[in-house]
Amino acid sequence: MTLSKSLYTRAIQCPKSLWLKKYNSAVLTPPDAAAQAVFETGNVVGDLACELFPGGREVPYLEKNYVKMVETTRRWMEEGLESIYEATFIYDGIVVLVDILRITPNGVEIYEVKSSTEVKDIYLHDVSIQQYVLEQLGYTVLRAHVIHIDNSYVRGDTLDLNGLFAIVDVSDAVDALQTDIPGHLARFAAYLDDRDHEPAIDIGRHCKNPYECDAKHYCWKVQRDIPDYSIFNIFNLGSKSQMELYGQGIVAIDDIPDDYRMTTIQKHKVDIWKNRTTHIDREQIGAFLDTLTYPIYHLDFETFQQAVPQWRGISPYQQIPFQYSLHIEHADGRLEHREFLAPEGSDPREAVAYRLAADIPTDVTVLAYNMSFEKGVIAKLAEAFPDLSAHLLAINANMRDLIDPFRKLHYVTPDMQGSSSIKQLLPALVPQMEQAYKTLDGIHNGGEAMNAYAAMTGKSEVEREQIRRALLAYCRLDTLAMVKILERLREVTDDRL
Ligand code: SF4
Repeated sequence: MTLSKSLYTRAIQCPKSLWLKKYNSAVLTPPDAAAQAVFETGNVVGDLACELFPGGREVPYLEKNYVKMVETTRRWMEEGLESIYEATFIYDGIVVLVDILRITPNGVEIYEVKSSTEVKDIYLHDVSIQQYVLEQLGYTVLRAHVIHIDNSYVRGDTLDLNGLFAIVDVSDAVDALQTDIPGHLARFAAYLDDRDHEPAIDIGRHCKNPYECDAKHYCWKVQRDIPDYSIFNIFNLGSKSQMELYGQGIVAIDDIPDDYRMTTIQKHKVDIWKNRTTHIDREQIGAFLDTLTYPIYHLDFETFQQAVPQWRGISPYQQIPFQYSLHIEHADGRLEHREFLAPEGSDPREAVAYRLAADIPTDVTVLAYNMSFEKGVIAKLAEAFPDLSAHLLAINANMRDLIDPFRKLHYVTPDMQGSSSIKQLLPALVPQMEQAYKTLDGIHNGGEAMNAYAAMTGKSEVEREQIRRALLAYCRLDTLAMVKILERLREVTDDRL
C-alpha cells in the first residue's frame, strides 16, 4: 500500500473514498473553481507561514520522485539546517511532507499549516500520521503544532505574521491518536487488497463531515438514487433522525410516516410537499407589504474575502464589498436602476461606502434578501469610515428582509422543496427569472462573481471590460429578481381583494 497524508485523512473520513480514489477515480467529481481557489489560498498561506521560521529551505516538489525529496531532506538535516519546508519522509509506503520541520539538537518539531481559522479534528489525524512516520523512522518528535489563520487579526499598514497566524500545540491530542494508527493502516490495506470489490460502506453523515466527499454524486445519486429533495434536505432535521429514517428504508419525503416526530415547521413543509399544495397566508403577507414604503431600494452586494488581508483595517476572511446593484421602485410604478463596481486591484471599500451613501438616502425602505449579510457588510463599512457611519447605520436601520414571508412560512409551494433560498424560490415563483440567469455570460452566482473580480488584475483591457460587463449583468439580475418576487407577493395579496 502506498499512502500520502491526504489519502490517509481521506480514508479516515471514509475508506471507500480512498478505494475509489485509487481504483475508480473517474466517478469522483473534479474540484470546481471554488475548491481550486481554496487550494490556491492554501498554497499562499503555506508559503507565508514559512516566514515565521526564517532561514529555512523548501524541498523542491518532484511528483514522481519522492525518494529524491527524502534524500534532499536527509542531506539538509545532516547539514544542520534548522527549518525545512516540505520536509519529506517515507516509511512502509507512507509518504509525508511536513509543512515546516524544526530541527533541534534533542529532536524535531512538526508544524502543519492550515488556511482555516481553527484546529479541526481531521487536522489532528493529518499531523498524527506525520508523527507516526517520523517516529517509525527513529526521529524524536518533541512537539506537534497546527498553524492556522487568526481571524481576530486586523491588518495595519504592514502585515504582521505573528498576528495573522495562531500556533496551537496539538502534541497531546496527536500523541493520543498514535496507538490507533497501525489498526487504521491495516484496515485500509485490507480494503485496498481487494481491488475487485468496492468497500461495502453505506452513505451517512461521514459523506459531508469533515469535508463534502467528492464521491457523493456517485454514492448518493448513481448508486442509491437519492432524490434531490429527500429526508436529507429537511430543514434542521438532525443527522441522527435522518439516519434513523434512512435505516428504516425511508428516503423520499413522501414516505415519511405521518406520525413521525418533527417540529411544526418541518411538518408543515413536509405536508406541503406530500399533498402538493401551496400555502399562502394573505393576511401575513399583506402585513409584511404594509411595512414597506415607497420608494423601495432593492439592494444586493457582491463581496470577496482574503485569507491574508491585503489592505489596512481588514481581517482575514472579512467580506469585502466590491459591487452592488440597486433597483428602486417608485410609488408611480417607475423602476430605476443604479449600480456600482469598484475598480479592481485596490481596496474597494471606500468607493463602495461613499457611492452607497450617495445612492441610498437615510429615510427610505431598503430591501435585501436574507439581510443579515447586507447588514453585516454595511456595519463593517460604517466602522471603517466614521464620517459615513450615521448614514450607513441609518440604511441598516431601514432595511427589511424579503425572505421573511418565506422563512416564516407565509408563502410555501411544493417546488420550494422546504427551502427559502432565492435559488429555490425563483423557479417556483418567477420561472422567467431562472431562465434569465441561465442566459448570463460567464457569471451565474456569487462564487463566480468573486472569482472573476479577483482574476481581473493582470488581464488585458478587453478581457477586463468583458468581465465588468458580466459582473454588472449578474448583479443587476439579483436585484431584479427581488423586484419580481415582491411583485409576486403583491399579486397574491391582490387575489384577496
Ligand atoms: S460519498 Fe460517502 S460513502 Fe461514498 S465514498 Fe464518500 S464518504 Fe464514503
